[in-house]
Amino acid sequence: MKVLITGGTGYIGSHVVVELLEQGHEVEIIDNLINSKITVLDQIEKITGKKPTFHQVDLLDQPALEEVLTNTHFDLVMHFAGLKSVAESVEQPLKYYSNNITGTINLLSVMQKTEVYNFIFSSSATVYGDQGTGECVETMPTGTGITNPYGKTKYMIEEILKDLAVANPNFNIVALRYFNPIGNHSSGLIGEDPNGIPNNLMPYIMKVAKGELKELSIFGNDYDTDDGTCLRDFIHVVDLAKGHLAAINGLKPGFTTYNLGTGMPTSVLQMVNAFEKISGKSLPHKFAERRPGDLAILYANPSKAKTELNWQTELTVEDAIKDTLTFLAQPQNNP
Ligand code: NAD
Ligand code: UDP
Repeated sequence: MKVLITGGTGYIGSHVVVELLEQGHEVEIIDNLINSKITVLDQIEKITGKKPTFHQVDLLDQPALEEVLTNTHFDLVMHFAGLKSVAESVEQPLKYYSNNITGTINLLSVMQKTEVYNFIFSSSATVYGDQGTGECVETMPTGTGITNPYGKTKYMIEEILKDLAVANPNFNIVALRYFNPIGNHSSGLIGEDPNGIPNNLMPYIMKVAKGELKELSIFGNDYDTDDGTCLRDFIHVVDLAKGHLAAINGLKPGFTTYNLGTGMPTSVLQMVNAFEKISGKSLPHKFAERRPGDLAILYANPSKAKTELNWQTELTVEDAIKDTLTFLAQPQNNP
């Protein structure tokens, strides 16, 4: 297939590009490089022996987008491009609604115009809001109790996709609801290394392990869980990437959702302990106040993807930590 990947130089997109190239698909990337580096393309080439075509285009620039989709006819678009900082979205909601929602509408408009109807969207477990149970199933209602604009953009985009699929029955749309992606390709050549102070757990742990940040604050140890810290469904990004290839088989008329998670929650403290054990070094950490908006427990029921897409995770949290250490050992990541 000829696949267009928006956000393809980003953390998850680059891993999906690798899997697609390794399966023989042709890939072109659109990214404005706001949160990724052009050098990712060289790393992809080192892993796969192939360098995807790259277009430095902003999704807010609809004419530029149209040029890319007019010059090449794509069989499928996978849409990763978006801003993803929860904290920043609270401070700058308009930036998030504009970039994520307008960007997606532009992309869908151009797809409709150029008659490209297969679409896979990077959604998030955040659309479930607070269901009270911790376990998320695709049949649950979405959209209530979402605590930040970033999460709301995911919910709103899903609603837009549902409406579009009704209005134009040519569209085959899949929204993949990711849980907590961690780790990187086992080569250590691509991965996540955000600038500044990270919001997410694993990038923060990595900065502490590198000595760039003093210690990890574990947000809350008085939750109603075995060790008092939150439980999350950490999924290895390579498993997540393979879920996208499986999702191609799930494309059918209308709007369909799948959870991509392991179904097996791990606590924040268990993650820290596992990181210390595998790295053989202590990871400075302390317990701190709960972070506003955090749910105690959130994990996937991954049965639908297993039954319908024949996909399930194969890698463990320990694999993800080992691969993270390989990434950190690369000279360019640990100057
Ligand atoms: P990322 O920031 O590494 O990748 C996103 C890419 O999109 C970046 O390369 C960025 O430069 C690009 N981009 C942003 N706005 C753009 C625009 N207007 N035009 C063109 N390019 C633009 O993030 P990621 O972790 O790889 O996430 C990919 C997708 O998955 C995002 O939509 C994110 O919301 C979603 N998601 C991520 C997680 C997670 O924990 N990483 C969880 C759930 C969902
Ligand atoms: N967390 C933490 N310290 C940090 C970052 C995150 O204790 O510096 C916790 C956070 O409270 C949550 C879990 O790690 O319970 C996962 O948080 P993350 O932001 O990575 O993902 P989320 O589940 O919020 O999408």
